[in-house]
Amino acid sequence: MEDWRDKQELVVMEGRIKVPYRWSAGEVGTRYLESLRDEKRFLGTKCGECGKVYHVPRRNCPHCFAECSQWVELGSTGILETYTVVRRQHPQLAPLPLPYGYGVIKLEGADTGFLHLLYEFEEGGLAPGMRVEAVFADQREGNILDVRYFRPAKGVS
Ligand SMILES: [Zn+2]
Repeated sequence: MEDWRDKQELVVMEGRIKVPYRWSAGEVGTRYLESLRDEKRFLGTKCGECGKVYHVPRRNCPHCFAECSQWVELGSTGILETYTVVRRQHPQLAPLPLPYGYGVIKLEGADTGFLHLLYEFEEGGLAPGMRVEAVFADQREGNILDVRYFRPAKGVS
């Protein structure tokens, strides 16, 4: 069967869709974000069955489906598990001046990593397994960017 697209050049219309959205962070997310905003403390949740500590916190364990009912205070330093460095500016996304990075960080006391920004590092100064520390924003609003970024932990190589 012939397809009309085989006979003529495709006409492409380009555009941009802006989709503003808002939703509740929920009970677990709200407690987590309030703790970051008001106390500069990271919280995780612990699975009642397997004992795994999740950061960011979850209501239920994705492995054994049990409730993660126990809150656990985590450190504001952690281990950089993996990362990438951004050296070219994206026209719409500029969270920090170049160069900055994105890293998966496993906080002290957590069994899972989470993705966040990396900054204040020397060229070639990042490596998996290194210790990094959180830098909090002065004006915190109750979102994950209340942590501005992570940087190599001071005094620890
Ligand atoms: Zn579990």
